[in-house]
Amino acid sequence: MREAFVLSILLMSACFGQTDRFVMDGHVHMINRQFYLGGSISDSYPDGQVDLPRIRKGGLSAIFFSLFIQEPYYTNRYESKQTLRLMDLAIRQIQQNHEQIEIAYNASDLDRIHKEGKVGAFLDLEGSFDLDGDLGVLRDMYRLGLRSAMLVAHNYTNEFADSCCAPPRWHGINAKGREVIREMNRLGMVINVAHGSDETIQQAAEASTDPVLYSHGGSRAIVDTGRNITDEAARKVAAKGGVLGVQFGNTFNNPVYYAWVQKGRPYGNFAPAPVHFSSPDTIEQLDRKMAKGYPGRPAEIPDEYRMDVDQLLVTLEHWISVVGEDHVALGSDFDGGPPLAKGMQDIGDYPKVIAAMQKRGWAEGRIRKVAGLNLLRLIRDVTEKKN
Ligand SMILES: [Zn+2]
Repeated sequence: MREAFVLSILLMSACFGQTDRFVMDGHVHMINRQFYLGGSISDSYPDGQVDLPRIRKGGLSAIFFSLFIQEPYYTNRYESKQTLRLMDLAIRQIQQNHEQIEIAYNASDLDRIHKEGKVGAFLDLEGSFDLDGDLGVLRDMYRLGLRSAMLVAHNYTNEFADSCCAPPRWHGINAKGREVIREMNRLGMVINVAHGSDETIQQAAEASTDPVLYSHGGSRAIVDTGRNITDEAARKVAAKGGVLGVQFGNTFNNPVYYAWVQKGRPYGNFAPAPVHFSSPDTIEQLDRKMAKGYPGRPAEIPDEYRMDVDQLLVTLEHWISVVGEDHVALGSDFDGGPPLAKGMQDIGDYPKVIAAMQKRGWAEGRIRKVAGLNLLRLIRDVTEKKN
């Protein structure tokens, strides 16, 4: 029965024209939608960008299965509880769909799951598991299967690392931030420096003994926003073996759109740090408020301001010129609200990005690295290093 199912999946894959390429996305929003609206990751949503049928149609072998802790949960210090709730739902839904998707705890798991024709889910956290960076809480999250976490509290600054988009408190990372990095290195967790300030990214790359990941974003040289990475920081990340993932939205890759939409209001400067202000909301009241943001609706863009898929390659090729093709990857941010390129609707359109690479004349070796092998190598360096 199971073999027949796997065979039918393989046949389906062949019909969609997929190859044996290992394709992995460094940042895909999963489970938040189901947490607020119900439903299963196996449902195909007419108003969504990511679900299992679309992931399979897109030909992906694996994803960073990213759970998102929104800023309002930090207010009354609900972030650890919210992480636990999302982890619980993620693990249950992955188990319910075990014939199609499986949690990968390391690179060997990803290899095996790919060979079995299933999707590997590498559990990742966008935002903070604990604003204080408590190492016991970090170890508990690891025990539950979390293998990648953001150093900062999304766009806010926590007690140990500055974000891209709030006034600096620590000028990078402080002594606690270094402790968190040391413990993530010891456990074998991917340190995600996306949403970090310039100083945070550079200091984290230097402090970590493992490669770090800038999972999703663009280049400051293409779109001048603090959320995009500078060439200087990109070089520091790559010098440690790290990887930069391009986010698929116009905001971070298309200077024409960025200039039009910002109207003098740059992306960033979300709120003053610190984040500890009090709110009368219970966590359930917050849930109801957050639920209104789902399903996410990407901004409407007039055609003259919307980029072609090729524009993603402008960012990728800039990074390749700065750090080389071994340090560049894809981190779409599907269902995280990126206003997409012309002709792209959801993760099922992944082959259009690969086709753009082929049309541009990229060698198959480069395509394979950028489409997944660089992320797989980083995960192997982090999760299977020889001590
Ligand atoms: Zn993000």
